[in-house]
Amino acid sequence: HWLAVRTNPDVPRHHGISLFVVDQRAEGITIRPIETLGGERTNEVFYDSVRVPKSRLVGGLNKGFYYMAEALGYERLMLFQAIRLVPPFKRLVAYTKSTMRGGHLLCDNPDVRRHLAQMATEIRIAQALEDRAFALLKKGNPLDHESSLLKLFASSMRQRFVDAALDIMGPAGRLEEEAEGAPLAGEIAKMARASVIDTIGGGTSEILKSLVATRGMGLPR
Ligand SMILES: Cc1cc2nc3c(=O)[nH]c(=O)nc-3n(C[C@H](O)[C@H](O)[C@H](O)COP(=O)(O)OP(=O)(O)OC[C@H]3O[C@@H](n4cnc5c(N)ncnc54)[C@H](O)[C@@H]3O)c2cc1C
Repeated sequence: HWLAVRTNPDVPRHHGISLFVVDQRAEGITIRPIETLGGERTNEVFYDSVRVPKSRLVGGLNKGFYYMAEALGYERLMLFQAIRLVPPFKRLVAYTKSTMRGGHLLCDNPDVRRHLAQMATEIRIAQALEDRAFALLKKGNPLDHESSLLKLFASSMRQRFVDAALDIMGPAGRLEEEAEGAPLAGEIAKMARASVIDTIGGGTSEILKSLVATRGMGLPR
C-alpha cells in the first residue's frame, strides 16, 4: 500500500512528506471497502500505530510531495484519453440516425444536431490538449500545469457528453444494460454513473483550476 506520511512537522508543509510502500498485512491496518456508484471498489484504509521499517521508504526522506506531484501529472494525462469517447460518440450518432421520435428521426432535430456538433468539437479540443502535453514530454519538458488543464477540460467534457446524450435519449437513456429496451445497451446510463468521480479523482476541478491559475498564469497563491 502506497502511503504518504508527514515525516517532518517543522518545515513548510510540502517539504515534510515522505512516501512508503507498506505491507498491507502489517498489524494495525484496517481496510474498509467502499462500493461506488460507478461500479468500482475503492477503500478507506485506517492505520493504528502501524510500525513501518525504514527500508520501506521510497526515494529520499521528505521528498514525497515532489514524487506525488510528478506521478499526479502523469495520472492526469492518462486518466481520460479522449479517443475512448469516439466509439460511444459514433454509436450515439448512429442511434440518432435510426431512432424516431414524434414522427421524425432524432438526427433531424436541431437541438440534437447542436448537441452532437458540440460533442464532436469538444472531443477534438481534448485530443489537441493531449497532443500538446505529449509533445512537451517528448521534448523532455515537465508536464507542470498542462496535465491539470487537460484533466480539468476532459473530465468535465465527459460529464457534458453524458448530459447531452441523456438529453438526446430522454428518460430511456437511464435504463441499465439488463433493462429491456435500454438504448445503446445501457452504455450511457453506465457512463453517467461512472463519470461522477471524473471531476474528483486525481485532483478535484477546484484544485486543478487553482493550479492552472498559479502555475500556469503566475497568479498569487
Ligand atoms: C470513487 C473514488 C475512488 C478514489 N480512489 C482513489 C485511489 O485509488 N487512490 C487515491 O489516492 N485516492 C483515491 N480517491 C481520493 C480522491 O483522489 C480524493 O477524493 C480527491 O482528491 C479529493 O480529495 P478529498 O476527498 O480529500 O476532498 P477535499 O480535499 O476534502 O475537498 C472537498 C471539496 O472541497 C474543495 N476544495 C478542497 N480544497 C480546496 C481549495 N484549496 N480551494 C478550493 N476548493 C477546495 C474540493 O474541490 C472538493 O469539492 C478516490 C475518491 C473517490 C471518490
